[in-house]
Parts: sequence; structure tokens; C-alpha cells
Amino acid sequence: MLVIHNTLSGREEVFQPLEEGKVKMYVCGPTVYDRMHIGNARPVVVFDVVHRFFKYSGYDITFVQNYTDIDDKIIARAAAAGVSTRDYAEKYIVEAEIDTEGLNALPAIHPRATEEIAGMIEMIKLLMAKGYAYENAGTVFFMPEKFAEYGKLSGKNLEELEAGSRVEVDDQKRSPFDFVLWKPKKEGEPYWTSPWGDGRPGWHLECSEMAKKYLGTTIDIHGGGTDLIFPHHENEIAQSECANDEPFARYFMHNGFINIDNKKMSKSANNFFTIREIAEEYPYPVIRFLLLSAQYRKPLNFSHDLMESARQSFTRLSNAWERLQELGGVPAIAIPNIDTDYGCYPELADRKAEFIKALEADFNTPDALTALFELAKICNTNLSRDSENDKIKAYADLFAEMSWVLGLDFKQEKVLLDAEILRKIEERQNARKAKDFALADKIRQELLDQGIVLEDTREGVKYKRV
Ligand SMILES: [Zn+2]
Repeated sequence: MLVIHNTLSGREEVFQPLEEGKVKMYVCGPTVYDRMHIGNARPVVVFDVVHRFFKYSGYDITFVQNYTDIDDKIIARAAAAGVSTRDYAEKYIVEAEIDTEGLNALPAIHPRATEEIAGMIEMIKLLMAKGYAYENAGTVFFMPEKFAEYGKLSGKNLEELEAGSRVEVDDQKRSPFDFVLWKPKKEGEPYWTSPWGDGRPGWHLECSEMAKKYLGTTIDIHGGGTDLIFPHHENEIAQSECANDEPFARYFMHNGFINIDNKKMSKSANNFFTIREIAEEYPYPVIRFLLLSAQYRKPLNFSHDLMESARQSFTRLSNAWERLQELGGVPAIAIPNIDTDYGCYPELADRKAEFIKALEADFNTPDALTALFELAKICNTNLSRDSENDKIKAYADLFAEMSWVLGLDFKQEKVLLDAEILRKIEERQNARKAKDFALADKIRQELLDQGIVLEDTREGVKYKRV
């Protein structure tokens, strides 16, 4: 039984799909004004594990994560760079794809807001026709006061907001809580034509429309960062439920924040890292490993020391995997199946049961990793060259199965790591040719620190991990 913490109820609930055997899931994607930072990577990785676990469990899952490719920041930065908004956003969508692929997220549907404007206009028309929205001088506003359930996700209600807030004064709004569905263009901005004049949709509306178009009026799971609960997801619910007269999402899942060296990440504190910067120092799978080392709702700390220890832990798994390969246990499974039975090997059946139990408990990835480490340990102690082939194969199959669900790709890490090692070996060879033995020794030591031992052989330099 899969249990999910549902932000809507504030409780853990047994997951029940809307339709037997199917899951419809929507996750808010990045606004593409820059490269993704480590905070953007967390939802990519944690919701990818959700995606993978449903597939593994035999569900037919449709997973949608959008790109917000029009927004004030994109417009301002494109103007500063002297390129069109479209080209600017395109560049950062490609950049986001590089990181998403590096982080080994499964392929998914990635709609772009600017390609869905027609549907957004239809949704605004519907909301106006039903009396939830009004137009004033080219701006269309939604009236949260018309939606009795407003606040059901965040627990905020309008009276409290009114009492405690300094909501911006805007003469165009009837109430300070009204939010924008459509805004008129400003000089030089990109725009689309609409019944209310040239302009563009509001951010909240984009997700309501894209979720509806790709998944239908009611979806199973909506995901995103905790920072999106209010107002973004609250407003999505209001728009969608008023437009469609159906519940919007049955479960809301929210991932926690990332702290840098135990401090809140912010541009002003200058502790802001892009994935690419980190990936220059650590292979993507190590970044993924770190992101899975905390349960998704908990805050996650990021620091150089933690990345180093993530690298070491990951290498332990990688070494166990490599040894399984050497023993001949190459698994044949593409997408593994939760029902695969390891009953002949109780030590494997136990590890698998622990692994599933961890993920079924609101995706407790640290405990799932513990089960994988336990498996690595028994691979090292229970297997040798003399072990039966069937046994080696069963161990390798389970190792591949658990790694696949967590999205840890040891081949990917090896390719990346190998390229880096080969570059260093070449650097060392050049140093030796130039008789700079101090540098050559330094490089050898650096590699040794990473657990890489070099051997000078007749066929050239070889290396192995220790
Ligand atoms: Zn969204």
C-alpha cells in the first residue's frame, strides 16, 4: 500500500488512483530565465522517483512537467541580452534539458506555456462567463471570494489574509485579493491577441490549462516545491475547480527547501549554485544521489563536504555494481517489475521488501538507499567467482531493479568519471614527458584520493578502483 502525504489534508493517505491502473501527474516546471539551480533540481529528481515507482508498480502513468517560457524576468533578461524572448527562453529550455537528462529523469511530456495560449484564453472566457472573473482596462482578474473553498490547500483564508497583510493597492482590482488571469502588453513586450486586447496570460492560469489539456479536469497528483503552495497552487485550484466544476488534484505533494551550508539559498546571500556548476565538479549521478539522501519533504542541506561524502557513498555502490558485472551478472531487465520474486534467495527477498516498504512510506528515499547499501554489502560478502550463475544473476537483477527505481545509473557515472580520469592520466603522461615529476606525482595522488590506482603496464597506463 502506497502512502502519500497529501498537502490538501495535511495527512498521510493511502494512494487510490482515479482510474484503476492509471496515474495522471503534473509537476510545475522551471521558469526558463537562467540555468537551473540546485533548488530546481530537487523536484526534478524527487518526482522522477515517484514517476519511476509508479511505472515499476505497473501503473500506466502520464507525467507532465511544463516549462514557463514567458514571464517578466525572461522578458527583461532577453531585452538586456538583445535577443527575442522566444530565442532566450529556447536557449534555457535546451539548458534545462541537458541538466534534466544528466540527472537521469525519465522522458515526460513538457508543454511550453507559449504554445498553449489558445486554451488559456478559452479557460479565461469560461471563468468570465461563469462570473468568477472580470475585465478592467485590458486586465482580467479572478475573484477568489467567489470560490468558497479558497484556501483549502494552504490553510489561509481571506479574512486572515486581509487582517494580516499589506496587499498591494491596485485601483483596477475590485478586491485586493483578485489575481491576474490576463495582463495587457507593455511597450516592446511579446503579446498574443485576445478578446480583452493584446497581452499574455497570468502564471497561475498557465498550469491550470496545461494540466487540463494533457491530463484532464481531475488529476491524481500535483507536485511542486513548498514555495508554490501559496499563492500558485491555491490559485490553480481556484481557477480549475471554478472552470471545470470538478476537483482539480486528488493529492498534492510538495518538496522541501534546499539550504546551502545550513543557510537559506538566495541570490543576495551569494550562495546560489547552478546544477552545471556543481556538475563540473561532481558527476550528475552523485548530485542525484545527494538529492535522494533526504526524504523529499524534509529540508536538504547542500555543502561541499556533503557532496564529497555523497561521492564516496556513490562510489561504494558503483564498485559493488562493477563487481557484479565482472562476475557476469548482467541483468536483462529494461523497466523492472515490482512483482519479480526472489523467493529462492531470502536475503534478496528481504532487501527488496525493505526497499518497497521505504518507498511506499511517502517515498522515503534515504531508507530505500539503505536497502540498496545492504544489498551491496551482501553482494560483496556472499558472492565469489565460484558462486552459481543463477545466484549471481539474481543479485545483479535486484541491484539493477533497485537502482533503476532510484534512477541511479552506474554506467552513466562510469562514463563521466572515466572521461575525467582519462583526462587526468593524459595530463600526467604529459607531465612525465616534460620531466615535471612533481606534477605527475601530484596527479597520481589526486586520483588515489578518489580511489583510483594507476598501473604502468606494457600496454600503457591502466587504472582500477580500490
Ligand atoms: Zn504551476
